[in-house]
Amino acid sequence: MAILDIIVAPDPRLKITAKPVKEVDKSVRKLMDDLLETMHASRGIGLAAPQVGDKRRVIVVDVAGEDEEPNPIRMANPELLWASEEEGIHEEGCLSLPEQYAEVTRPAHIRVRYLDRDNEIREIEATGVLATCVQHEMDHLEGVLFVDHISALKRRMILRKLQKAKKQAALENA
Ligand SMILES: [Zn+2]
Repeated sequence: MAILDIIVAPDPRLKITAKPVKEVDKSVRKLMDDLLETMHASRGIGLAAPQVGDKRRVIVVDVAGEDEEPNPIRMANPELLWASEEEGIHEEGCLSLPEQYAEVTRPAHIRVRYLDRDNEIREIEATGVLATCVQHEMDHLEGVLFVDHISALKRRMILRKLQKAKKQAALENA
């Protein structure tokens, strides 16, 4: 396994539409495992392939708390089968938008179909933080970030802050 570099917004590579995998083969399994290792190393609860510059429809999530047993879920080609009309509001962050948080409204309850690490078709129902996290990661496969769900004003503020931090880091490394 390997820890990969996470792309920080704003970056055009975070705006792509990812491509379905034909099957979960050795190479997709490696991507899944690398994403999980990268996510855990950054103490994240979800990570999507485009965040490490990979164009395949692969995401991983693990919303287990620090004192709980890890509960990693690896998904390829996740597909939303159903979403509740009831909505939930959660504060979201993103490893590609470090230290930025905002409340996002999404369906509270979803059902998703995907291919697991063994290339088996699976379905899960998710509520609460897991539902939010899976929708957030699936958004990444469409080039959508959590800031795209909030007001344009707040979005611009966050992206400007990140852009400034990037410039600062570039200067310091020059
Ligand atoms: Zn994210």
